Amino acid sequence: MFIRMNILDAYYMFASHFHGGQGSKEYLIFGRLDKLGYKPSPLLSFENMSLDVREIYNNLAIKTGLLPDDYEPCATCGFDHDYEYEHAQKVDHPDYDD
Ligand SMILES: [Zn+2]
Repeated sequence: MFIRMNILDAYYMFASHFHGGQGSKEYLIFGRLDKLGYKPSPLLSFENMSLDVREIYNNLAIKTGLLPDDYEPCATCGFDHDYEYEHAQKVDHPDYDD
């Protein structure tokens, strides 16, 4: 069960990374978040999303085809260590579960 703030954070990060410009479906998310009174924390970034937020984000991105179907999130950090991210550095930790 995800808490509301996690869901909103995940949608915000999703829209930030994947919107195709003003008028795109993803861009409309910003308007909806704004109406809900959502203001992202200045500390929110791709690298420091919590595991819960990242799981929602990953699900959104995979469902919409913006991350590949074979994307395999690591249980420790939520990143796919084999995936080449365009907009972020992968988390580096020694205990990869793959
Ligand atoms: Zn990991």
